Order: sequence, then structure tokens, then C-alpha cells
Amino acid sequence: IPVDPFDIVIFGGTGDLSRRKLLPALYHRWLDGQIPESSRIVGTARSEMTTKEYREMAREACETASGKSWDAKAWKVFEKLVEYVAIDATNPDADWPTLKSKLSANDHPCVFYLATSPRLYVDISEALGRAGLATPNARVVLEKPIGTDLDSAREINDGVGAVFAERQVFRIDHYLGKETVQNLMVLRFANMLFEPLWSRNYIDHVQITVAEDLGLEGRADYYDKSGALRDMVQNHMLQLLCLTAMEPPNHLDDDDVRTEKIKVLNALTPITGDDAKRLTVRGQYKAGVRGDEPVKGYVDELSSDTESTTETFVAIKAAVDNWRWAGVPFYLRTGKRLPYRHSDIVIQFKPTPHPLFGEGNDAVNRLVIRLQPDEGVRLYVQIKEPGPGGLRVKSLPLNLSYAESFTVRYPDAYERLLMDVVRGNLSLFMRRDEVEAAWTWVDGLIEAWDRGGGAPELYAAGSNGPLAAAMMMDRDGRAWFEGK
Ligand code: NAP
Repeated sequence: IPVDPFDIVIFGGTGDLSRRKLLPALYHRWLDGQIPESSRIVGTARSEMTTKEYREMAREACETASGKSWDAKAWKVFEKLVEYVAIDATNPDADWPTLKSKLSANDHPCVFYLATSPRLYVDISEALGRAGLATPNARVVLEKPIGTDLDSAREINDGVGAVFAERQVFRIDHYLGKETVQNLMVLRFANMLFEPLWSRNYIDHVQITVAEDLGLEGRADYYDKSGALRDMVQNHMLQLLCLTAMEPPNHLDDDDVRTEKIKVLNALTPITGDDAKRLTVRGQYKAGVRGDEPVKGYVDELSSDTESTTETFVAIKAAVDNWRWAGVPFYLRTGKRLPYRHSDIVIQFKPTPHPLFGEGNDAVNRLVIRLQPDEGVRLYVQIKEPGPGGLRVKSLPLNLSYAESFTVRYPDAYERLLMDVVRGNLSLFMRRDEVEAAWTWVDGLIEAWDRGGGAPELYAAGSNGPLAAAMMMDRDGRAWFEGK
């Protein structure tokens, strides 16, 4: 369904995110006929560049990202929507009037996408206010990370909030635009099968894993100041936890879903003091392998010679302190240079009360929601192994693969989220209180780590992470689900 005509200004329009995700997302929505011809796309950054040069940069980026779906003829029409204006966002005297002149005089929604360092979010918002661009039709999109702790997040939220009303602020977490993440809600709330079982009565524990096989990939400066907890847990993983644990919302309206998510964040038991040693593991990769290739350790990937104690792996045993989840651990695990890239939510059900067929290590039901790659859902059930040798039980998955079930191309998360911004649909974006509640919980943990001192435990690149992460599960009589 086409959206109404709109304008979008991308600050950081020459950056990595714009080239790999935002411009290709807009191009693909155009190919699908969703973007009207009277829309405008304006890239902006400090670099001096003509619109012609910018279009050429955008074409290369879109062609690379499109693969087989590249359509040179369609591009020729699409590129007419694209323009470039050079602006230093920190300079109030920059060419804001030219930017304004590029935008439609109609009452179109106007999206300001801030794909720059978060340090610029307040400067850009204030400049938009001064230039008379923060109109009621304006929307501002903030990329993660929103701050590096609660105080800096509040500063950004206050600064942006002084110019834009909360309903105009779209805090993006691209995980929420992934098809499989949205499917989590459908799976839970459109099937009578699961919801009655979705509580402490039948669920033993939940595991959420976001594993990467890559290392720093040129992001050393950012990553070394951030680490796995701030980079992945504060946003993506806590959002996944919220969608898994939240109560059914009354409706799918913006605030109904977000209100249920914030209740989960507020119910997370703080991990402070000595509990951090028991309930968390920090790791950092040393040299090892990726597949068959030898790869460097984390500190050797950094450009500086200084030793770093930044964690590239974190495992957390979290608790959601409410009626539904009392006593059910939520194990979170994320890391770089793990054996393969995968993001999974694993719901492990309790064992049957009476082991009629004998004890079996694996004799439990498991619902595995694979978010990436090979998106799909597997429900592990017990079946009888064929053969005359008695009743031997085996755990096998009922397998629902997205690729096999749907032949259509499914859009990148940014395509869905950008069109939601244009439509003004906030439900997949984080509200201010969500971001701040997540930082409150993460800040408590960082403080405990800082007080406890100690370097992260080293693990070999290509391994499953530090031994302590396996031991954390072992102590509870459980194990990480490593199934592919
Ligand atoms: P990047 O490649 O470093 O790009 C930064 C952009 O900002 C460039 O276009 C740069 O162009 C522009 N810029 C820098 N200073 C400026 C100023 N004073 N005024 C105007 N423009 C300025 O960064 P990125 O990787 O695209 O990331 C952008 C944001 O998205 C960051 O907040 C990042 O955390 C977030 N993010 C990125 C990814 C990703 O995959 N890349 C994923 C999730 C979130 P000039 O140097 O020409 O000014």
C-alpha cells in the first residue's frame, strides 16, 4: 500500500548506515511502488559534494545492496527524488536555508533521520528548531545508541524533547523491524496453543542468544568504549526479552505495546554488588579461528597499544520479578567471534512430571525461534525412535522455515521501520521511558562490574565463549542450546 508523499532528510547521508541500509531500504520501497514520486530524499553531511556525485554514491550503494533485484531503469526514475546538501550540523550558520528550500512546501510528513554520532542529536534538533523545520509534521528518528548511560540518555532525550514532542520522536531498534521478531508477537498472541503455557507453570527457563562470528570490522573506536553490554544488551536483547515476557497488550496501538514492554523492564531484578559475579560473565576473545582461518585476538585488532578490558562477550542470568515469571531465569548471551552467527530465543518447557520412558537428557519440549539467519520456528517434541528395541524416545523438531514457507522476498527491517515512521506508527519504536529504564538496569550492572574490578575472561575466537558461561548454566543443571 503506497504511503502518502513525504520528505526525508538523512543526516549522516554519506555514512555506513545510510549506504548499507537506509538508501537501499528507500530504493526497495520505491521498487515495490510504496513511495510516491512527489516524495523527496535529501542526504546531508559535512563533505562537499554535488547532488550528481551523491546520486552516484547512492547508486553504487543500492546496486551493491540489491544483488539480483537491482533494476537500472527504475533507478533512473528513483534518483530524481534524491538530492544532497552539505551541512556541518554543529554549525548554526551552515546552509540550513538551502536545506529548507529543498523540502516540500506542502503539509507532507517530513522525516529527519539522524544517522550520525549520538553526540550530534541535540545540536541537529536545535538547529532544525531554529531553521523553522520542527513543524508539527516533522518526525525525528534517533539511531542507537541513545547515550552511553542513563545520564547521557536523559541529556539526549531532554535536548531532542525541547524541540520535538515525544510523539514525533522515533527511537529505532532495527531488531524490532525484523520479520521474525514481529512474528514472535503473532506466534504468542494469534495461537491458542502457546499462551496458556507461557508462564512459570510450564516454562523452565528462557535463553536469548545473539552470536556473531565477526570481530571488530573497523568499528574499534566505537566498540572499545561501548562493549557487548552497552552495544547489544541495553537495546536489542532487552527488547527481545520484553517481547518474550510481556503481557498481551489490549491492542496493537503505539502505547499499548510499549506500556507492556516497560512493565517488563521495570520488573527486571537489578543485578548489583556481589550478585554480578554470580549472575554474569564477561569475556573477551583472544586469537583463534573463524572457520578454518586464523584470526587475531581483540586487543590486537585495536589500533592502539593499550590493554583493553572491554567485554566482547556477556552472559547474564536475569530475573523478571512478577507473577508470571517468578523463579524462571532468562539467560542472555551475546558475543563476538563465536562459532557462527545466529540469534535465537529458546523457550525451554519443564520436563514431564513422571519419566514414563526413562530419564533422558534431552527429553523436554523446546520452542526455538530463530531470528537470523534461516529465520524460522522449531518446536522440539519427543517421538518414538523407530525399531523393535523397546520404547526409545527421541527429541525432534517440527520445523517451520520462513524460506520454505514464503517465496516472496521479505523486506529488510529498515524498510518496514522507515515506512512506519512515514505513517507515524510508533509501536515498533522505543519510548523515552523504555530507553531510560533499560539504562537504569544496565548502569547498575556496570557499576557492580567497576567495583568488582577484574578483567574479562579470555576465550579463543571460534569457541563458544568463556568457560564460566557454560559453568553458570551447569550450576543450574542446564546447558546453552547450541543446535543449528
Ligand atoms: P559513519 O559511517 O561514521 O557515518 C557518520 C556520518 O555522519 C557521515 O555521513 C559523516 O559525514 C556525518 N557527520 C559526521 N560529523 C558530522 C557533522 N558535524 N555534521 C554533519 N554530518 C556529520 O557512522 P554510521 O556507521 O553510519 O553510524 C551512524 C549512526 O547510526 C551512529 O549513531 C551509529 O551508532 C548508528 N548505527 C549504525 C549502524 C551501522 O550498521 N553502521 C547500525 C546501528 C546503528 P561527514 O564526515 O562528511 O560529515
